[in-house]
Amino acid sequence: MRRALVLLGVVWLAACGPAEVEYKETRYVFGTLVEFIIRGVDEGKAKRAVAAVDRDFQRMHKDWHAWKPGGELVALNETLAKGESRTVSDFVLPLLEQGQAFEAKSGGLFNPAIGAVVNAWGFHADELPKGALPDFDEIRALAAKQPSMADVKIEGNRVSSTNTAVRFDFGGFAKGVALDMAASKLKALGIEHAIVNAGGDLNTIGDAGKRLWTVGIRDPRDWGVIASVELMGGENLYTSGNYERFREADGIRYAHIIDPRTGMAVDHTVSASVIHENGALADAAATALIVAGPDDWADVARAMDITYAMLVDKQGTVYATPEMLARVKFETSKELTIVESGG
Ligand code: ADP
Ligand code: MG
Repeated sequence: MRRALVLLGVVWLAACGPAEVEYKETRYVFGTLVEFIIRGVDEGKAKRAVAAVDRDFQRMHKDWHAWKPGGELVALNETLAKGESRTVSDFVLPLLEQGQAFEAKSGGLFNPAIGAVVNAWGFHADELPKGALPDFDEIRALAAKQPSMADVKIEGNRVSSTNTAVRFDFGGFAKGVALDMAASKLKALGIEHAIVNAGGDLNTIGDAGKRLWTVGIRDPRDWGVIASVELMGGENLYTSGNYERFREADGIRYAHIIDPRTGMAVDHTVSASVIHENGALADAAATALIVAGPDDWADVARAMDITYAMLVDKQGTVYATPEMLARVKFETSKELTIVESGG
């Protein structure tokens, strides 16, 4: 919530001309505030478009949820755990298909089949987990079962798994899939210029009034903005953060991004930001780059066809591709160590 409040301010708009109509509306969904800015249509049309997208968001919230009962994904997870197959709706299918593709591209570092491990850490809850740490041997044993999207067979809408340890948790890229769908719907409804911003993760369409959209990149260290960047219509910015959802024991923080190879929480990297035309890919890649860390992130970015990427490690060192560095404007008030790599 706190993050959402701070980050709604990160879109700075160019001054609008007198004929420009700009409509803004904020909705609450996926536990965060989502801000819509729509230009170039009358208010009635903009309002109806936001309402239509919000109806989709509410359905995603229910049917894509990894642990709240009553949605399609929870039912699917229960079925696969029993070794059975299930028919899923067209609403859930894209998550499975894209999840499979992105896991393969990331060399397994982005893995939305590790829901059982995420749950064992206590992250399948609205509140941050407290109390005694989970048994690490149990967590390692869950990871050793190697649940993977590669175990999942999709035939039409029929889904089965050869590995009963597979539990879907699409938290690593659901926002990207959701905002991609939102942008498609807005375009289908005749909107040519818009931005949909879910707490700093955002998709753009068109422009900000004959100028590019200027947006802020989240700073993991102080909840503010570390840099700004101009986006062309259709470019989307995603930051995955390993700093706001964590559990703490004996002064050690165990954050919610997990290395699928070990089941252990990633501690070397606090955030990764990616710009790409495919929001779902950007979101998945940002998660994968956090797992990859300072040594391997540039290779993983290349494997995932990501040109614009930036990473902040736990010492606060910033790593970025040359292409990303050429575009971002860092906050001058902040002292930053910046390392150019990859590209
Ligand atoms: P943010 O919360 O900033 O959007 P992410 O996009 O990385 O961060 O999403 C983190 C969520 O992704 C976790 O809460 C968990 O549900 C899921 N997750 C954790 N580790 C992985 C992983 N290695 N691959 C895919 N999903 C993951
Ligand atoms: Mg992500």
